[in-house]
Amino acid sequence: MESGVITTPLYILSRTYGYVEFMKNLASCNCGKLTLCAEDKPIRVSICHCFECQKRTGSPYAAQARFSIDKVSISGDCKEYTRTGDSGSKITFSFCTDCGSTMFYRFLDLPEVIIIPLGAFEAPEFPAPSISVYEERKLSWVTLPAGIEHMD
Ligand SMILES: [Zn+2]
Ligand SMILES: [Zn+2]
Repeated sequence: MESGVITTPLYILSRTYGYVEFMKNLASCNCGKLTLCAEDKPIRVSICHCFECQKRTGSPYAAQARFSIDKVSISGDCKEYTRTGDSGSKITFSFCTDCGSTMFYRFLDLPEVIIIPLGAFEAPEFPAPSISVYEERKLSWVTLPAGIEHMD
């Protein structure tokens, strides 16, 4: 590993109030050259079963956390891909120019937020998703956390 590349996640967990509170989160791509630091806990954590998310992640569904844009700093080079969602809104995905990991995405209509894939945090204690969307496209064998809000 090159010097200067942070390999240890910097999230600090506080259990003082019973809820796992993220004070600082470091997300990194597969090669470690593109990193994001979230200085506040996520606004919402969700799962999406749409086919575009399945293709993007290569997984049965995508899991991601939404943060306030002014609480996230980005370090490293990224390339962008923009697609139009079913609702007509444009979404821009940013991925590492070296390893191709999607590290964040943004909705053109929601400039105040940034969405980061959960897997980038290497954090088994990350808060569970509270909402599951596009369930009409959910793989039949996928089971979801109890109490999650469902949307087609
Ligand atoms: Zn990378
Ligand atoms: Zn999706």
